[in-house]
Amino acid sequence: MTLIAIPIFVPSAAAIPHMLERAREAAAMGATLVEWRVDELAQHDNGTQNVLEIVRESPMPCIVTCRPAWEGGRFQGDDADRWRLFETLLRADDRPRMIDIELRTWLNSPHEQHVIPSLLDETKSADEGGTSLILSTHNFEQRPADLIQKVEAMTHEPACDVIKVAWVARSLRDNLETFDLLRERQKPTIALCMGEFGQMSRILAPKFGGFLTFATDAPEGETAPGQPTIRELCERYRFHSMTRGTRTYGVIGWPVAHSRSPHIHNTGFADIDHDGVYLPLPIPPEYEHFKATVGGLIDHPGLNFRGASVTIPHKENLLRFVSERGGRTDTLSQTIGAANTLIVGAAGGIECRNTDCPAAVDALCEAMKIDRSALGTKRIAVLGAGGVARAVVAGMSDTGAKVIVFNRTDKNAEALARDFHQRATASGRQSHVVVGKPGAEQCDCFDVIINCTSVGMTGGPEPDASPLPDGMTLDEHVTVFDTVYAPVRTPLIKEAEARGARAIIGLDMFIRQAALQFEAWTGTPAPPESFRRALAESEELKPH
Ligand code: NAP
Repeated sequence: MTLIAIPIFVPSAAAIPHMLERAREAAAMGATLVEWRVDELAQHDNGTQNVLEIVRESPMPCIVTCRPAWEGGRFQGDDADRWRLFETLLRADDRPRMIDIELRTWLNSPHEQHVIPSLLDETKSADEGGTSLILSTHNFEQRPADLIQKVEAMTHEPACDVIKVAWVARSLRDNLETFDLLRERQKPTIALCMGEFGQMSRILAPKFGGFLTFATDAPEGETAPGQPTIRELCERYRFHSMTRGTRTYGVIGWPVAHSRSPHIHNTGFADIDHDGVYLPLPIPPEYEHFKATVGGLIDHPGLNFRGASVTIPHKENLLRFVSERGGRTDTLSQTIGAANTLIVGAAGGIECRNTDCPAAVDALCEAMKIDRSALGTKRIAVLGAGGVARAVVAGMSDTGAKVIVFNRTDKNAEALARDFHQRATASGRQSHVVVGKPGAEQCDCFDVIINCTSVGMTGGPEPDASPLPDGMTLDEHVTVFDTVYAPVRTPLIKEAEARGARAIIGLDMFIRQAALQFEAWTGTPAPPESFRRALAESEELKPH
């Protein structure tokens, strides 16, 4: 079983009671090990006595680490002091389960290479398990060039019980190498990537038999980049039930850390007992990054990567990638020029779909209590001409509805209308998509207004503004659909409700597009109540 360790820095003797309480709470959350970081504590007066106290009182089995500044820690003293501390710990009655020493320190200490192994052996014959030695190496900039040589050195060092390698990932692909190190390990191994790109290695450690992973007790949203919380690991990612065969999915975007998709898909997987885990997968915007990373995920022999939700700015990249790799692309994605769903078969075959379009049509029809043919009789104003507008215009015009596009930049609206006007549609009629002129449309002639701009979105260009063009009538005869879903109730939704219009929130579309993805991956209809529950919980967790 892969352990969950919480690292706790102990800055001073006065802080010990509070830090012990934190460890007790972390154990209640699901942590199974505490790493006492005594870098600072050990330097103070009575440092060794204080370290002995915290080990004696530790509510969980513990690792003691006293990391020097040159390896990213806070210990400024010399190595002789640290060695004295470790020797004292190994001779004490209450010993730590593990001590962590940097490989570099170890290789530079021939004397200790004799002393420490015999002390470790004594602990092992004195009590069950005794104390183990972790040899570790860290790089806070990149993958170390001599990574393999370091792993070999630790593998061949008889005193080393556990190998630890950690480095700052430069892309998601770095995680794949940690998985390979774990798969090929000859000893218990901790192989983790740090930073935003490294979260995957921390969450998936049990899938590859990692000895432990580190997690924090900080509230969600307040952690360092890439650091999962103990609760996230145990509850959202079902850390303890992950197996070698667990399928991997994720949301690909840039940025992606605040996506709510991991909440809903993991909750859905748990509710239908699907052996899958769904992660945030940040990939920088350029196609070359997308191609290399997604290709690497699909081709990795142990990952069992089975699909992804794909969001801004990669929807066009997904369509291109699947076409170039000889996968299946559906007609809808080709028409729209973008896809949001990647499906990977068990044998590695790939397919992409666009679920935004059917989700938008279904959300509208259900809220208006009409079918697609009745929708085809409506006049619909689409605000915006970006990616979501393309999916919405494709779906609306296909029903035969008259679609009028309003956009800040005329040429983008004209290009959109040109692409979708006068096409053969499923309704049997030719599609009707034209550009509207704000001010010239001062009529009550729109049955539906759909916002596909990012105006009104939290963190967007104008979070407090309404995207409604000047003079556009909004009253009880109009249905307003805002595709923006963060916040749940946007300025436009509030305005629509205030004027008596029917209002449809973007979350309805978001849940539907996710449900279609879920069914494509699992073969099981999504449990909508799971999705709603997960979203409600994520809303509570969001920092306000
Ligand atoms: P996009 O391709 O970047 O398009 C953005 C659109 O917004 C463009 O038409 C742009 O006009 C317009 N715009 C941006 N800033 C503006 C401003 N200050 N004033 C007026 N117009 C402005 O983005 P997208 O992928 O279509 O996403 C748009 C929105 O859809 C997102 O904010 C997101 O919340 C929402 N969305 C919802 C769902 C769902 O499931 N409900 C799914 C995906 C996205 P120009 O052409 O002039 O630049």
